[in-house]
Amino acid sequence: NNPVIYAITPTYKRPVQRAELTRLSNTFRLINNFHWIIVEDSEMKTSLVANLLFRSHLNYTHLAIGTPVEWKRKLKEPKWKKPRGVKQRNKALEWLRNNKANENDEGIVYFADDDNTYSVDLFNEIRKVKGVGVWPVGLVGGLLVEKPLINSKGKVIGWNSAWRPERPFPVDMAGFAINLKLLRNHSNAEFSWDVSRGYQESAILSQVTTIDQLEPLADNCTKVYVWHTRTEEPILKAEEKLKNRGLRSDM
Ligand code: UDP
Ligand code: MN
Repeated sequence: NNPVIYAITPTYKRPVQRAELTRLSNTFRLINNFHWIIVEDSEMKTSLVANLLFRSHLNYTHLAIGTPVEWKRKLKEPKWKKPRGVKQRNKALEWLRNNKANENDEGIVYFADDDNTYSVDLFNEIRKVKGVGVWPVGLVGGLLVEKPLINSKGKVIGWNSAWRPERPFPVDMAGFAINLKLLRNHSNAEFSWDVSRGYQESAILSQVTTIDQLEPLADNCTKVYVWHTRTEEPILKAEEKLKNRGLRSDM
């Protein structure tokens, strides 16, 4: 059996968006039995994303839901002050529950942010997930690799996390996947606004699993197949100068 991998990607408009989504779609094109659920953080779907998806040759679902203004990051406010992608991931979960409600619809759900770096090997691991699978994530939480700790019996007993290690599941969004069956059985499980920084992952995971049920993957969590990379914001100072010459460079 070859369950479908559903990758849920929240995304928002910014100068690097098309570059990020191009990189991501090129990775996803290497994966079989794959379905991309892309959810724009906006009131309406944009033609930028629609065109990119149409031309991608991928199976996809294109959704949009805006983050309420009171939850939007204000100019100059640090990134981590407000939760990101919450409404969008929940919208994708709702779509899955409404459209893949049949138990014959075998699938695994992975939350794939648009700026991370994914190895093709990661998807071979995701495909194995029966309940909830976990694996190492590179370049996150102040560490080279944040990873599950495995005991001699091959059970997950925690994480090596240094940042807020007291979290119930001190893991990054990129470090786990959930079988669709569990999300159907726990039909209220979703992300929440009302959790402090770093607790999104714990919020959803604690609704569907416990640490002793986690399935360690990626060679007993000894391999890194995903990195929490972040793209530098480009400096576009010269755009003003172009405008003054009656020219523009956006295309
Ligand atoms: N995101 C979004 N709206 C925003 C900010 C972020 O939809 O206002 C998306 C973003 O495209 C990414 C995910 O939410 O897929 C996580 O955001 P980001 O990568 O900025 O978070 P970080 O990696 O810094 O925690
Ligand atoms: Mn990111």
